[in-house]
Amino acid sequence: MQAGRPTGPLVQGYEVIIGFETHTQLTTQSKIFSRASTAFGAEPNTQASAVDFALPGALPVMNKGAVQRAIEFGLAVNAHIAESSVFARKNYFYPDLPKGYQISQFEIPVVQGGAVEFFLDGEKKSVRLVRAHLEEDAGKSLHEDFIGQSGIDLNRAGTPLLEIVTEPDMRSSAEAVAYAKELHKIVTWIGICDGNMQEGSFRCDANVSVRKPGADLGTRREIKNLNSFKFMQQAIDYEVRWQIEQIEDGHAIQQATVLFDPDTGETRSMRTKEDAADYRYFPDPDLPPLVISREWVEKTSSAMTELPRVMATRLVAAWGIPEYDASMLTQSKAMAAYFESAADACKNPKLASNWLMGEITRRLKGDEISIEDAPVSASQLASLIRRIADGVISNNAAKQVFEALWTGEEQDIDAIIDAKGLTQMSDTGELEKIIDDVLAANAKNVGEVKAGNAKAMNALVGQAMKATKGKANPAQVNELLKKKLA
Ligand code: ADP
Ligand code: MG
Repeated sequence: MQAGRPTGPLVQGYEVIIGFETHTQLTTQSKIFSRASTAFGAEPNTQASAVDFALPGALPVMNKGAVQRAIEFGLAVNAHIAESSVFARKNYFYPDLPKGYQISQFEIPVVQGGAVEFFLDGEKKSVRLVRAHLEEDAGKSLHEDFIGQSGIDLNRAGTPLLEIVTEPDMRSSAEAVAYAKELHKIVTWIGICDGNMQEGSFRCDANVSVRKPGADLGTRREIKNLNSFKFMQQAIDYEVRWQIEQIEDGHAIQQATVLFDPDTGETRSMRTKEDAADYRYFPDPDLPPLVISREWVEKTSSAMTELPRVMATRLVAAWGIPEYDASMLTQSKAMAAYFESAADACKNPKLASNWLMGEITRRLKGDEISIEDAPVSASQLASLIRRIADGVISNNAAKQVFEALWTGEEQDIDAIIDAKGLTQMSDTGELEKIIDDVLAANAKNVGEVKAGNAKAMNALVGQAMKATKGKANPAQVNELLKKKLA
């Protein structure tokens, strides 16, 4: 399967293969099979009902809201929504699982197939999904070191999860992270998951193996519970290096479940991996098959918000921006709204897109805030772009204005331009004089340009821009220089 030409970068001559299993916690108010609350952070065991405690005779009742969210996800990734799917018991013993089994879906999941599409370094990628199934979360063991005891908190037991499983389609840690970010974007965009990774609402398990190009798939190890994009990349990179080292040393890889330790940057084996057969799955006799009518799917479909990829296509058509820009601008609804309002106000969509993907994104990251909290509004950005397009200020000068707007130094764009003396030099006579001075002072560069050295030309442009304190239009400087040196 999938042998053939590698489609990703090789690491020390090996091809990297990655498949993801992601547990997304659904945004229902109550649990998947009981009416207890799913709110995070309550006192232990105050949000668990008889069903969650697994008291004898307590029966699960399906939460319609969880099914609704599964349907929405399936539609968002172009998957098939099963007419009838089946809940199964996944049997294992663990103190945080008093029933002795987890209710999940096994042979017939509710969401089947589909794909997640995204860009990686400007290249379009598509990761196929195998399935997404509904299941309940387990409880939590709390280790109270100071009294030397452990307790069980069943507040999380029965929290609805949608586990999303990919084909082993990813070929590098960078691609894996890009997939995870896209999936995160989809589930938060449609509102089925709050996406809070710290609180465990979006947990990724990365299955990683390596092989020589053209060989069969290698044995995988599964890195559990990656709850930050940064650790995800580090963990996969470490795991790949470790597996290659093992193989090069003549050891076979054992299928295993491993944990990533952010302190050491290493993955550590937790247990050798069970096979499906070890869980003795069988259909849960307490729950009837989950039947979803086509009317329900259609109704959901027509009520659904515009999806990121649909919106991206629309942005390309409406504003004439590249597909890549559109995918970056649809990171969130707020980002897309900011873009559309700025583009509409300045009538220069490509410049608006450049500013959003460049300066604004850089500033948002630096301040660790999201676009909703950006101190520069869409209409301010539009005014700034209009000043550039009208030739009032250069792009470089605009960055200084932007900085003053962002830091709150001053809110009036024209006042900033005046105060900083940033008005672009439009007087050709004045500019010519400055250029003559620059040519006189840089005889060596002039000689090199005449000898055909293009780099020396850049140096002259740089000198002239410096002499005008960045107020000249670089294109005009270039033109004048060429004319004078011809
Ligand atoms: P299980 O049911 O034991 O968890 P699956 O076949 O469902 O196993 O696969 C789980 C995940 O592992 C999927 O995301 C799949 O794409 C991925 N996977 C399967 N084989 C490999 C492999 N050889 N290398 C990397 N990932 C793999
Ligand atoms: Mg699995």
